[in-house]
Amino acid sequence: MGDFDYRRRVTNPVNVGGVMLGGDYPIRIQSMTSTSTMDADGSVEQCKRLAEAGAEYVRLTAQGVREAANLDVIKSRLRACGCNVPLVADIHFNPKAAFEAARHVEKVRINPGNFIDPGRTFKKLDFTDEEYAAEIKKIESALVPFLDLCRENGTAIRIGVNHGSLSDRIMSRYGDTPQGMAESAMEFLRVCVAHDFNDVVISVKASNVSVMIETVRRLVAAMDAENMHFPLHLGVTEAGDGDDGRIKSAVGIGTLLAEGLGDTIRVSLSEDPVCEIPVAKMLVDYVATFASAPEIPYGLSEGFNRLTPRRRESDAVGIIGGTNRPVVLVEDGDGAYSGDEKPDAALADLKDYIEVDAALLYDEWPAITPGKVVVMTSTSANYPASVQGALHKMISEGLTNPVILKASYAGVTPDEVTVRASVDLGAPLMNGFVDGIMIESDAMSTADAVKLAFGILQATRLRITRTDYIACPGCGRTLFDLQSTLKMVKSRTSHLKGLKIGVMGCIVNGPGEMADADYGYVGAGVGKVSLYKGKVCVEKNIPAGAEAVDRLLDLIKSDGNWK
Ligand code: SF4
Repeated sequence: MGDFDYRRRVTNPVNVGGVMLGGDYPIRIQSMTSTSTMDADGSVEQCKRLAEAGAEYVRLTAQGVREAANLDVIKSRLRACGCNVPLVADIHFNPKAAFEAARHVEKVRINPGNFIDPGRTFKKLDFTDEEYAAEIKKIESALVPFLDLCRENGTAIRIGVNHGSLSDRIMSRYGDTPQGMAESAMEFLRVCVAHDFNDVVISVKASNVSVMIETVRRLVAAMDAENMHFPLHLGVTEAGDGDDGRIKSAVGIGTLLAEGLGDTIRVSLSEDPVCEIPVAKMLVDYVATFASAPEIPYGLSEGFNRLTPRRRESDAVGIIGGTNRPVVLVEDGDGAYSGDEKPDAALADLKDYIEVDAALLYDEWPAITPGKVVVMTSTSANYPASVQGALHKMISEGLTNPVILKASYAGVTPDEVTVRASVDLGAPLMNGFVDGIMIESDAMSTADAVKLAFGILQATRLRITRTDYIACPGCGRTLFDLQSTLKMVKSRTSHLKGLKIGVMGCIVNGPGEMADADYGYVGAGVGKVSLYKGKVCVEKNIPAGAEAVDRLLDLIKSDGNWK
């Protein structure tokens, strides 16, 4: 098999309440409740709806021992009505809750950033080698009794690292980086290996899609170097709602699934969690079709490194290629092109373009003459691998024509076009093939196809054309109406360009996990929110809703960012 052919990474199978994941088992779909875990009725009802929709595991938050104990009530009621979906407890900052949950549910997620450490405090940022080694010992002595309890109860664990919640120890050595996130996971994995505990799933998530992709790739490289084969849970955190959330998730998760990485996925949307399931299914089903593609006869070009991909060098033809930002072009029924801010200029630059099908052998392509734009399509069943193989072939042949990737979809729904285009174009974009993209589909108007293409560029952060929303899906910690608030914030700020606005359900994880947002609206108690400017809390305990949204807008305006 070649560098681009689809094959899944070999991982250890893990038993999660009888629904196996990893190994040769299907890629599992999961979600998380947004109810309070103390609300047994609401949680049971939502777990059942999720299971009926196709969730193969359901996670619930357990912020304390009380909530962890109530998982037993929820589980018993589910089993009594014939719903056997394995349950997962989500734990932050409270090892006692993790111990309690391990007695009741099939899997417990712990966060290495705050299982033992209090989360980042910025109080200690210098660790000598001795102090660092002592901290690692501390991890071992806290984690081993937990692993023993899990072994006794047949409970699997997930070591779930989040970009926004790294410990001071990790921050001191690596900063807020993909290396730091990967190492945070490896510290815990080494303890699991040393104590022969193998029912472990691992995740490293971020809201920034490129950080998430790089981190997973680094973690896999680190695991390979230490002969570890733990299965991976993939997700983009705080992806938001609507098309934005779907595109971000599909680009991040899809790029990795297409590389054969990932054994279970969660698409996090700030919507009813049941809405996550069809999107996740579309992603998994679409990537599964890649296996039927014929072998790709090209290898990686010299010097290419998946961990640090750089933009492919191309010659500029007008506004396309070179150092120009990626363009968006869409073909309408008359063969004209539109979509970019300067469609006429882009159209002129496209005159006499050369169209190639990446699925054909290089020898069968038309002559690629210098100074012309190449529009690359693919009739392969594995579009992202096929175009990337062909682009590496072009690099190896010394061809520097700018390349527009054109993806076409017929006979599928608009949602499927959104997911498929995000995977097909997102993966090459994330690997440095960025001169421009085109999408055509009989399921979408030209305007919607243009919007989708700009959404994909926005998700990859290669071209920011509007406000970026970083919004968590909400969970049992959310004490205000997150979904309607996000809609309100979006409707009043969507005209702004280039700002990042966070809308987060709770003060415990929200500020850390909205990471690089310029402004944040963060739940602070029952019906109360706090406002953030960068990482700094500037207003506390405002009544949630219209008043707090007004104050958020005032804050943006007072900074001169209302444009
Ligand atoms: S940030 Fe959102 S999803 Fe994460 S713990 Fe808080 S409320 Fe739950």
